[in-house]
Amino acid sequence: MSVTFCPDQPAGGPVELGASIECSAYPSTDRRCFADYDAATAGLADHYRYCTDPDCGEHAYRPFVVVHYSTDTEPSLNVSRRHAMLLLRALGLVAELGADDVDEPAPAAPPPEQDTPLFGDLDAEQMLGRVELALALAPADAGVPARYLNTAGTQYDCGRSAGYLQDRLTVLREVALFARDQTRDVVWH
Ligand SMILES: [Zn+2]
Repeated sequence: MSVTFCPDQPAGGPVELGASIECSAYPSTDRRCFADYDAATAGLADHYRYCTDPDCGEHAYRPFVVVHYSTDTEPSLNVSRRHAMLLLRALGLVAELGADDVDEPAPAAPPPEQDTPLFGDLDAEQMLGRVELALALAPADAGVPARYLNTAGTQYDCGRSAGYLQDRLTVLREVALFARDQTRDVVWH
């Protein structure tokens, strides 16, 4: 479960740039670029014939088709739900006051959008202002040490490294700057 902050989709949706074939071989030996998904799928037959990777094949790791979009290389920020709450609080986008790094209990079903701050969108200029304000005002993130949550040692909290908040806010600033240049909102979900 994670939350991604990214520029809203461009008007008309992302542009499809082509497709390629990925398999277990690293580095990739199949560098062909196909016009679209169907062309790449047809190209799988040749891949099976010529790929020499021992783990690649119908009975091991199947090669698969990846479609590339104009939005693939846009800046985005992906964080856990808990860390998303930390960010949203620092940005003043959560209603409650004075809360710190509270672990949200996992909801039984996906909540409707209006009931959670974990879905939202904001004008890029406004997001940029909130990010700059948070970077100026939020105290340096001291981090949280990793620890076991129960004595049996079966539940582990990875914690958070020092400076985490400021580091992620800096990435979010890149997202907001890009979105503003593109005249798009910043969305998170
Ligand atoms: Zn292969």
